[in-house]
Amino acid sequence: MTDVLTTKQRSFCMSRIRARDTAPEKLLRKALWRAGMRYRLKTGLAGRPDIVLRRFKTVVFVDGCFWHRCPEHGVAPKTNGQFWAAKLAKNVARDKAVTRALAKAGWRVIRIWEHEVECDAGAAARTVIKAIGRRVSPNTGGAARR
Ligand SMILES: [Zn+2]
Repeated sequence: MTDVLTTKQRSFCMSRIRARDTAPEKLLRKALWRAGMRYRLKTGLAGRPDIVLRRFKTVVFVDGCFWHRCPEHGVAPKTNGQFWAAKLAKNVARDKAVTRALAKAGWRVIRIWEHEVECDAGAAARTVIKAIGRRVSPNTGGAARR
């Protein structure tokens, strides 16, 4: 995943993660909704994706920086280091298996880091919209119909 944030921006994002009690997947849902995207939440799909864009055969996961070991913030705690390393490695392996299973079933799988959503939910939504091949209007940040 690309990460173009400076260290200063990134720590700002992380401070927002701690300050906010809104889950990042909710922020992304809101941003997508504002951009005109309609989605489903409850499906029986593998890994329980946070957002399902059925029309575009696309699922979106917002991966928590800690639990899914983001390269920037996914540091295993020092206490019980081995336990955490094993547990988090298992999460990462499961993510990969879920992605594979969904891709095999014909879904496009998009994974976005929690810190990307926290930093700029609108930008994260545009990343999703671009990935599914819709044009994004630069003025509104919304998706234009093709
Ligand atoms: Zn992160």
